[in-house]
Amino acid sequence: MDKNNDKLKVIYIMGSGHTGSTLLDLCIGAHPKIQSCGEFKPHLFWGNYQKNKLCGCGISSQSCPFWSQVINDWKSKTGIYDLNVMKNSQDKFENISINQRINLDSYETEFYSYLIYNQELLYSISYISDKPILVDSTKNSIRALNLSLMPNIELILIHLVRNGNAVTWSNMKKDRSVKSSSKNWLISNLRSEIVYHKIKTKKLRIRYEDFINNPTDTLNSIGNLLGLDFSNISKNLINGTGIEINSHLLAGNRKVFSSSNLKLNPDNTWKQKMSYKNRIYSKLLTFPLAIKYGYL
Ligand SMILES: [Zn+2]
Repeated sequence: MDKNNDKLKVIYIMGSGHTGSTLLDLCIGAHPKIQSCGEFKPHLFWGNYQKNKLCGCGISSQSCPFWSQVINDWKSKTGIYDLNVMKNSQDKFENISINQRINLDSYETEFYSYLIYNQELLYSISYISDKPILVDSTKNSIRALNLSLMPNIELILIHLVRNGNAVTWSNMKKDRSVKSSSKNWLISNLRSEIVYHKIKTKKLRIRYEDFINNPTDTLNSIGNLLGLDFSNISKNLINGTGIEINSHLLAGNRKVFSSSNLKLNPDNTWKQKMSYKNRIYSKLLTFPLAIKYGYL
């Protein structure tokens, strides 16, 4: 008997920022058995909830029926009523180096509590949404390692990559330098590479560009890992109908998760607007992995 049969399946999207992870999260979550969760970065997920920011459904997060039920269910199971406890615990055990993380003992009380509280949150989301599979697009590779230790979670790992030039261009629009955003791309993907090889589970590497150009192949690969059929979703993405969504995301790309209809629009602005000098500089800074992912 498969020991994973009774575990909650969590599809985890890992990688650098600006890779289209919210879009992929919602496209996967359009399957009737799957619930999109967006990002659980502590200052965004808990922070947005505490600040009562709008949920993807258009209702303020503390009034959204979905999150009200999830958080109440989770509070009653864990006995945690101060959400800062969870926010601080995630900060402590997710925003650390791989070495620090590997040196943690999963039976150490505080770390074990962190694992169980997070697992309980995922179970509350599954229970309230009535979906047996979740998508978590936090992207932080340390969180992937942590999810792999949660006793009743079956992790399905996706390493999502996107051309470093496109990612750097997105960062440049937010006044970040070519150097820092290229280095960030390299470090995030190097850490993801280490974690990808370390975790023994069902896993897949996806290039954002392949997903945009051929969603059928990408969604079929994900479907094969899960034993699910994504053909209805692929069909609507290809024929331009798009996917109707009513998301309950609190964190991720707000423009994407607040829309009611998802379509795939290749964003190639960087090809027209990014100077050759900046493209070459960024490529030099990211080149070992850029070659591996086929971006040269
Ligand atoms: Zn909502």
